[in-house]
Amino acid sequence: MAQNFLKPLTACFGKPVAENPTQVMIEAAYGQLGLDWRYITLEIDPADLKAAVVGARVMGFRGFNCTIPHKVAVIEHLDGLGESASVMQAVNCVVRRGDELIGENTDGKGFVEGVKKLRDPAGKNVVLLGAGGAARAIAVELALSGAAKITLVNRSPERGAATKALLDDQLDVETELVTWNAPYAIPEGTDFLINATSVGLFPDVDAELNLRYETLQPSTFVSDVVFNPPQTHLIRQAQERGCETLDGLEMLVGQGVIGVEYWTGSSPDPQVMREALEAVFAGE
Ligand code: NDP
Repeated sequence: MAQNFLKPLTACFGKPVAENPTQVMIEAAYGQLGLDWRYITLEIDPADLKAAVVGARVMGFRGFNCTIPHKVAVIEHLDGLGESASVMQAVNCVVRRGDELIGENTDGKGFVEGVKKLRDPAGKNVVLLGAGGAARAIAVELALSGAAKITLVNRSPERGAATKALLDDQLDVETELVTWNAPYAIPEGTDFLINATSVGLFPDVDAELNLRYETLQPSTFVSDVVFNPPQTHLIRQAQERGCETLDGLEMLVGQGVIGVEYWTGSSPDPQVMREALEAVFAGE
């Protein structure tokens, strides 16, 4: 029987990237799908990004993820952008389509698809804490999904204004910007409260968001992008108040599912991917 030792390749480009657990999640997905594919974690210096993309092309990579600091810089080395990546001008997932490398952004898509399974954001009021890359990806995708209003709450007014301008210029959604310099009271009628800041991220797991938690209503859906640890202070506070919640692991898994679908054309089981990540965080 003829044998084929050429394995389809995918990767993550980042720096630093050694602690990024994506490889474990994606390889679990390949295993569950019965695909003999490879996903490798590669530390790429910004000065070598162009050469790395050329390398991925000539070695026939089916695609690769980009993480810090390559999400914006990679764009000039690609052949085109999907809709969300084009609006955000940031790419976290590159996909080979024919002879072309196309940049997609699955961060927000993964989040919103997870949310939609539990509650539809169309026509709803969203309070989004943060205005960095993750917040921007989520805001764009929520706006594309028909959210009525997004209130951006951010510490630095400059970054908040830049994200607001991006939404106002390119999408059909009402926006408001709040400069976050005092304990924030969650407005009545908030349907979704989303933490898209890095507050609570390992190792600062005891850090607390500057919120007036007593203003959080049980009807508000609460989500946190921080996935390490998945059970953040915000998620615990929300659950104690009877709110429905979605943790950061769901977003991580959600964007991984879409990446695998883009690359392989097959839909992996998210539960298998989540369990692989949980084992990593449990130190197994
Ligand atoms: P950025 O550096 O682009 O943005 C960080 C944001 O956090 C900014 O809005 C910043 O505000 C805010 N922030 C940081 N510290 C504080 C603080 N003490 N108080 C208030 N606001 C603060 O990071 P990213 O957007 O790329 O990442 C944010 C988080 O999202 C990280 O924890 C990351 O791990 C997570 N993430 C999760 C993903 C997932 O799949 N679950 C995917 C991508 C990211 P300011 O502008 O004032 O500095």
